Amino acid sequence: MPSDQDPILVLKGGRVIDPANGLDEVADVVTCGASILEVGPDAGALYPNARVKNVAGKLVTPGLIDIHTHCFTGLGDFCLPTDLMGVDSGVPIIVDAGTTSTTIFGLARKGIIDHPDTRTKIFALMDPSQIYLANKTFICHYLRIADDERNIDIEAAKEVVDANRDVIVGFKVRPTITDDPDRSPFLEAAHQIAPDLPIMIHLGSFPHTPVLETEKLLYQLRKGDIITHACRGGGGQLDAFGEPTRAFTDAYNRGVLMDIGHSAGDFHFRTARRLIERGYMPNTISTDLNVFNVDGPVYSLSTTMSKLWALDVPLHQVIAMNTINAAKAINREDQYGTLTPGRAAEVSVLDIEEQPCVLSDGHEQITAHRRLRAVGCLRNGQWYDAVHDQKSVQADIREAV
Ligand SMILES: [Zn+2]
Repeated sequence: MPSDQDPILVLKGGRVIDPANGLDEVADVVTCGASILEVGPDAGALYPNARVKNVAGKLVTPGLIDIHTHCFTGLGDFCLPTDLMGVDSGVPIIVDAGTTSTTIFGLARKGIIDHPDTRTKIFALMDPSQIYLANKTFICHYLRIADDERNIDIEAAKEVVDANRDVIVGFKVRPTITDDPDRSPFLEAAHQIAPDLPIMIHLGSFPHTPVLETEKLLYQLRKGDIITHACRGGGGQLDAFGEPTRAFTDAYNRGVLMDIGHSAGDFHFRTARRLIERGYMPNTISTDLNVFNVDGPVYSLSTTMSKLWALDVPLHQVIAMNTINAAKAINREDQYGTLTPGRAAEVSVLDIEEQPCVLSDGHEQITAHRRLRAVGCLRNGQWYDAVHDQKSVQADIREAV
């Protein structure tokens, strides 16, 4: 934290892109403690006693938000350390997507979200079941808990949500079916527990448990709900001719959000290219980082953003997807997603590496002309180096040699 005597910090001379405010210019970002104070060309000159961090030549954005991660280490064996995906990757705010459920949420809150060692800001999309654990063996699916209606307790879930609305921003639902192929009791439970909160769903299947067909699922989503893995292959969003289905386009057009959720095998350049060329631009870019993909093909949020940039999505739009769009998706645009003075001092700083690099979706490799790499971030006004993202620079250099 800045000291009491000198709480003002200037990130000086970077290229500031703040899509929500239509800003793309060389400017200073001035923070005072945990708040944004001012943004503008040479704004730092007004504060001669401020600490100055020179970010000339870097890209400066509102604090990046990754809305699909798995960060509750100790609950199952699927998660990664919170800060590896967060501040150590230049990402001050992350969302856990359904690693936890109602009876164990308190543990996740105490042990990770509120733990003094946790430096990244965490929100949660909670599974509405009593017991759900994201683990390597899909145990809740294997034991058929994930599709057992006895796993639902609406009233108990309401109590958990209402006691934790400061951090629970919605639900992650595995839309499993039981005896009726047209409805998922778990999707309906989430609607009943908190009708005002968004629901994130997967495209694709789960081992051991049947789920709603994509077409039926898409028609049951509401404006503001989130389709993650939206660019996966074989997800049912494209028809046999490779064209977006009516169910998908109807969902998109009524405001259901399209999220990347890269994961190990759930992002295809091919699907993304087709959806984008047909006018269906993703709303948010997320990683779905977990133990199975952190060493490739996902690595980090900056790598995932670079893949969308490589598909010719304009840079300001890529940044919007991880700032204002992500903040809106979790209904936190009043706090995060912009550099408007008075907002929380969450700021990300990235390098644009202007050299050819190979990017893989796990199925196809492409050569991009450039990529983004995190340098660091301000989280609540405090600077953190992006040590995880920078580690891969060293690895890339070794590979090149
Ligand atoms: Zn996930």
